[in-house]
Amino acid sequence: MKNKVRFYRSVNFKIALTFILILFISIEIIGAYFIRGLERSMIENYKDSMDTQAETLSGTIGTYLSRQDVDPADINNEIQRILDSSDSADILEMRVVDEKGIIRATTDVNDRSSIGKKSIDSYIDQFTDKSFIALDETTGNRVLINIRVLESVGDVVIGSLYIRGDLEKQYQEISNIALIFVSATLIAIGIAIVVSMLVARSITQPIGEMREQALRIAKGDYSHTVDIKARDELGQLAETFNQLAERIEETQEAMEAERNRLNSVLTYMTDGVIATDRRGRVIMINEMALSLLNLKQEESIGESILKLLDLEEEYTLRALLENTEEMLLERSSNVSHMERLILRVDFSMIRRESGFISGLVAVLHDVTEQEKTEQERRDFVSNVSHELRTPLTSMRSYIEALHDGAWKDEEIAPHFLEVTLEETDRMIRMINDLLSLSKMDSGNAQLQLEFVNFNNLVNFVLDRFDMMVTNTEKDYKIQREFTKRDLWLEIDTDRIIQVIDNIMNNAIKYSPDGGTVTVRLIETHNHVILSISDQGMGIPRSDLAKVFDRFYRVDKARARQQGGTGLGLAISRDVLKAHGGSIWAESREHYGSTFFISLPYEPYEEEWWD
Ligand code: ADP
Repeated sequence: MKNKVRFYRSVNFKIALTFILILFISIEIIGAYFIRGLERSMIENYKDSMDTQAETLSGTIGTYLSRQDVDPADINNEIQRILDSSDSADILEMRVVDEKGIIRATTDVNDRSSIGKKSIDSYIDQFTDKSFIALDETTGNRVLINIRVLESVGDVVIGSLYIRGDLEKQYQEISNIALIFVSATLIAIGIAIVVSMLVARSITQPIGEMREQALRIAKGDYSHTVDIKARDELGQLAETFNQLAERIEETQEAMEAERNRLNSVLTYMTDGVIATDRRGRVIMINEMALSLLNLKQEESIGESILKLLDLEEEYTLRALLENTEEMLLERSSNVSHMERLILRVDFSMIRRESGFISGLVAVLHDVTEQEKTEQERRDFVSNVSHELRTPLTSMRSYIEALHDGAWKDEEIAPHFLEVTLEETDRMIRMINDLLSLSKMDSGNAQLQLEFVNFNNLVNFVLDRFDMMVTNTEKDYKIQREFTKRDLWLEIDTDRIIQVIDNIMNNAIKYSPDGGTVTVRLIETHNHVILSISDQGMGIPRSDLAKVFDRFYRVDKARARQQGGTGLGLAISRDVLKAHGGSIWAESREHYGSTFFISLPYEPYEEEWWD
């Protein structure tokens, strides 16, 4: 993220460079004008002063030169004297030439010998006033040449004055000044660099800080604020930046809270929820859905929902979106693969306001239990109808026979009536059983709990059976093996008696003549267990658990013949369940069966009674 800006691309550099360039250009322009002006005025001044000097000299020398009364040699001496007296350092040579071109005097010490000879400089002979810059032929230096015409009183030309001034000195001075200018420029630029750097830094530093802040915000760190150093535009920007960070933090927190809330709602939902994107790929799946589908988070995110639900072959995503609102799926349970899990899946689309479909939400409900209950209910209704139809049909055929004239037959008629009575009894029993079952089912069966001595209770039931043995056609013997301790239990006496009755009846019913029924009563540390064993036909292993189901009978014909309804054990199971106890059976075919009931028991109560 933190890529460094190259120095020459930085705002720092650009500001400094602009600053320096502007400075440099302005100094250059000013310098050029200044030096040009300086040069012109210096040369002009020099020229003017030379002009004045020439003017004065030419007057004086002209007067001397026009004198006829003096010896020419004296005149020459006088002129030489005048020239020498007005000679100065910046004048290279002053020379006087007469109208014939003869040199009369010169300040050039090395050229004194040329006095009295004809001058060879062509421009001296022209006898016109002029002033111009020329290059010295011998030295190559720039020189200013001033020529003045010497006149006598009647404006007659009598010679000329020639002055050669040294310009190099002036130029030297100008270049000295220019040099000062250049060095001043360099110093100014140096200072400008430092100043511009400082200025640029004062601009870029807050910007850099704001960039850092932006990077931190992007990473989700809101703890820093930008220092506000100045009350300028950058200061305002920094302030806005801090406010922005605050706002983002608030929004972020609000969103986070919202997301957490949504997450916890989804996590603790008892339904499975799967959300997908537009293409049906899973983007969210909650814990419940994972456990219902027996999947792991990693393997489901990004996977197609059709694949997760095993619908690839039957449905396309389009079909799912367009038609299906609800469907039932069967899955093997994650606990044991034998058990089937039935899931109801509701689909709904996620639509934007524009109507664009942006995804799909599937809600999964575990309806296994519901479906099972539903199936049981259907089975139950069909069983009940079937069970009632059988006795009714048989009764109808007997009554029909009686109606057709059998009632006159004194031998048959009582028997037929007896059978119909038996069938009616059986139906009443069955309907009573069904009623008590339905009471249990709807939870209306309030237990009439009382504290009883369980040993006495069992004895009481068994005594009745002992009494009955003489009245029934079957012979049997009851053997009691009880614990010595008295067991006090809080139970609904009538119902528990009903259970023991039922098991005892079965034990006698499904045993051959002359069998022994052994009844044992034992206690564990928190349960009382009553077992009733017979020496009867036994129950096949595969039927052992099913005998507690409603209407289940191992041998239907035989059971019915015995007058059984197939509801006794089912009722027993419900009664024990209501007591917090349980019932189960063990059996060996052809050797006998043992039914166990267990009831919760708290042993210390006995001591408490003592
Ligand atoms: P039923 O009224 O038919 O006896 P139950 O619910 O009491 O109904 O018993 C269900 C079935 O369990 C019986 O039909 C019978 O096949 C079997 N069964 C119950 N007790 C015994 C037993 N002691 N020995 C053999 N089979 C038994």
